[in-house]
Amino acid sequence: MKRAMWMIALAAGVAAFAVPALAEAPVPVAPFDVTEATRAYLDTLQGAARAKSNAYFEGGYWLILWGALVSIMIDGAILRFGLSARFRDMGERVFKAKAGVTWITALLYTLVSFVITLPWSIYTGFVREKQYGLMNQTFGAWAGDQAKGLAIALVLVPLIVMAIYAVIRRSPKHWWIYGTGVVAVFMTIGAIIAPVYLAPLFNTYKELPASPARTRIVEMAKANNIPADHIYLFDASRQTKRISANVSGLGPTIRISVNDNLINRTTLPETAAVVGHEMGHYVLGHARRGLLYLVLLAAAALWIVSRVAPALIKRHGERWGVRNLADPASLPVLSILLAIMGLVATPITNTITRTAESDADAFGLNAAREPDGFALAAMQLSEYRKIQPDPLEEMVFYDHPSGATRVRMSMQWKKDHVPNAVMVTPPPMVPDAPAGQITPSAK
Ligand SMILES: [Zn+2]
Repeated sequence: MKRAMWMIALAAGVAAFAVPALAEAPVPVAPFDVTEATRAYLDTLQGAARAKSNAYFEGGYWLILWGALVSIMIDGAILRFGLSARFRDMGERVFKAKAGVTWITALLYTLVSFVITLPWSIYTGFVREKQYGLMNQTFGAWAGDQAKGLAIALVLVPLIVMAIYAVIRRSPKHWWIYGTGVVAVFMTIGAIIAPVYLAPLFNTYKELPASPARTRIVEMAKANNIPADHIYLFDASRQTKRISANVSGLGPTIRISVNDNLINRTTLPETAAVVGHEMGHYVLGHARRGLLYLVLLAAAALWIVSRVAPALIKRHGERWGVRNLADPASLPVLSILLAIMGLVATPITNTITRTAESDADAFGLNAAREPDGFALAAMQLSEYRKIQPDPLEEMVFYDHPSGATRVRMSMQWKKDHVPNAVMVTPPPMVPDAPAGQITPSAK
């Protein structure tokens, strides 16, 4: 009897468990909610860390404006004190040929503008980065990089300036057309040589060593018909704690480089997602497209310069010691006009870049199939990019989609492509952790 009772109780117990389970089976699981999944990620950047990221990035909006004003004021002072005329006079004492005079003028102009701009460069490039905890360099190392940058500028800028003034002398009316050609040639050569001759001056590039990350990257490259003989790893941690990767070069020198912060500070899904994005730039031909846009913008800018600069020189040239547009002493006038146009064109150039970045994001999600990895990477990038701007702000100031836009795109992709997608609980962000300590997970 006792045993029978026990059996009944057991059966009832089993039934008690079984019945709800049977009843639940036909009820579909709540569908993956894109908005909720997005919010779960965005909520991991809160409080002081979010305020700091917003302050850093919003301060950058002002730096665009102040940077242009600083450069215009410095050029204005160079004209006002007749410095560019003096540079030209020095050139004329050394050289008879106009090309030589232009070379000396441009050389001195580049050097003197660099020196006068130095306090501004130190604040924006070093002090501010250090204040926000993004700088990994000592002042000495940073200054060393600046000196290398100056050395490169002293070689390249006078060459471009010589070519531009040569076409101004030869064709005073239509020089802007040939000038655009000059810009196109220099940009193309620059893009080809930069990864081979310029980037290694600042960082050490080596083959990404055999690792799960490399295996994964090579697999993705093969699947997308990208030559994967060389994938480079460079020591960006020398300068900064930002994670990143890039596609650089053009034609024979095009390559994917991964920075060591990405490898050290993120998990494999994040690395794969970021590299998938870079592969998007590669496959979608963004290097060539970007170059084309820049050349078109240069054409517009030079056309405006060719219309405005002669009028300015006619009016103030005597005071500045500038004879005409073909006089290399007019260099600061060109520089002022280009700074104004660069400032005004900021929303356009940002939108061109951001659109390409968004296309690369979409490509990367399909290539890596790591929506949560990409969302996590977007969160990490938001440590220096305001995560949730309003749409107009994003259009004007963002050269990459914001963190919020990227996380949402990832979660939408997950809903559309992952069968039975489930919410994950994103790990909390530790924005101030030094490189290599952000994620405990091994690579
Ligand atoms: Zn990109």
